[in-house]
Amino acid sequence: MSFKNGQKKALTFSFDDGNEDDVRLVGLLNRYGLKGTFNLNAGLLSHTSSWNFEGGKEVRHINYTEHPHLYDGHEIACHTYTHPHLEALDAATLENEIVLDKKVLEYLYGCEIHGMALPFGSYNDAVIQAAAENGMAYCRTTWATQSFSPPDSLLLHPTCHFLDGNIGELARRFLESETKEPQLFYIWGHSYELVTEDDWAAFEGFCKSLSGREDIWYCTNIEAIKAIQNKETGRDNDEKL
Ligand SMILES: [Zn+2]
Repeated sequence: MSFKNGQKKALTFSFDDGNEDDVRLVGLLNRYGLKGTFNLNAGLLSHTSSWNFEGGKEVRHINYTEHPHLYDGHEIACHTYTHPHLEALDAATLENEIVLDKKVLEYLYGCEIHGMALPFGSYNDAVIQAAAENGMAYCRTTWATQSFSPPDSLLLHPTCHFLDGNIGELARRFLESETKEPQLFYIWGHSYELVTEDDWAAFEGFCKSLSGREDIWYCTNIEAIKAIQNKETGRDNDEKL
């Protein structure tokens, strides 16, 4: 199979928890023509649920009314309504966490949602089943594969975290590869983990190094997953999931 326009390589980003640093991060992705998916907790889209990251940095959740169009051109996906450990919930509460998040985000952002990042990356069979039954085409974990193999199930393991010490080497491998098989470079993180100006500069340098290549498809998570799954089922890639 190939991705769009016959490309064999796809690059996508996945950022969790919807916080105010997403404003700067989205600007950076847009500057370099990169695409990503933002996994939001509909029950936490206000400043009142702020908290402190390492070094005392205050992290404030994104407020929808202040930034209604921030994620335009990217994908909005579920991250559950209140970010609990899903595997610890009873069946009804588990369903509520997924359905409420999906419905509220779809209403606010005027989109259809078919993707989900698992809070804390944790899950069990009941979690995956509930996600599938509520229309999710993938469930992203936090388990880094260090590889570019496309997922072959609902579970979507990332290539690496965006501050992984090996990410430069992975990028070099991805860029130099002359693969005949499809490769998906899948990077996840939280924008609030970029604390210093040096952190931001390093990540911008990384984005720049991967940008503007004709042999790479810059896509959202769901676009990559649709291309992979539709190839397996023989459906047209433009057909809605
Ligand atoms: Zn999270």
